[in-house]
Amino acid sequence: MIILLMGAPGAGKGTQADLLASNLGYRKLSTGDALRKHVKLGTEIGRVAGAIMDRGDLVPDDVLFKVLSEELSSDSSVVTLLDGYPRNVDQAKALEALKSSAVKGAIHLDVAKDVLISRLSGRRVCSSCGSTYHMSSSPPDQCGKCRKCGASVVQRPDDRQEAVAVRLDVYEKNTRPVLQYYSEKGRCWHIDGTGDAGEVFSRLKAVIDEICSPV
Ligand code: AMP
Repeated sequence: MIILLMGAPGAGKGTQADLLASNLGYRKLSTGDALRKHVKLGTEIGRVAGAIMDRGDLVPDDVLFKVLSEELSSDSSVVTLLDGYPRNVDQAKALEALKSSAVKGAIHLDVAKDVLISRLSGRRVCSSCGSTYHMSSSPPDQCGKCRKCGASVVQRPDDRQEAVAVRLDVYEKNTRPVLQYYSEKGRCWHIDGTGDAGEVFSRLKAVIDEICSPV
């Protein structure tokens, strides 16, 4: 079973997918994480994707389809949370063609634009273990090092102001229509994505329980 976690950049999809994975044993499949891994390893896909990601644009659909098919082919999980795919209607159609009966629905985390910008501009990540920080609400230690592993904490290139503006724009133009696509199929839910992570988790879990319950 595949559940799509949707939301603008900074809506908290990654955080919630991590919470659902650690608390309920679901698999988190993030296309952004998969691409960043390719960039780090210097693969062909990483070479195509790196610069596009840094400026906040979408990586071409054929590259994403390859990444997604690879990741899903090794998927034996009961519930997979897809974070970051589909990001346009063509990708949604490609996913339907690949796994139509498995896709149970899309859950959108609703968050206002000013909150998204504040979350993204303050976000920092550990360059080694990937732990996430926020400069005002959960800063790294005083020397700017990761509290878990001690490595340097950095700003993602696509969290810089210019890239954030591009990502929010791309989201409105390309990804928001995906919600309409799933609404027309009666498979789109919205939840309030503001408040602390635990509150959002409870709202999300209630919707997932509803989606997963036998009719
Ligand atoms: P994320 O970590 O989900 O914010 O993704 C980081 C970046 O990876 C995005 O800004 C895109 O450049 C790229 N990316 C991730 N998923 C997709 C996708 N489904 N289609 C195109 N580009 C993607």
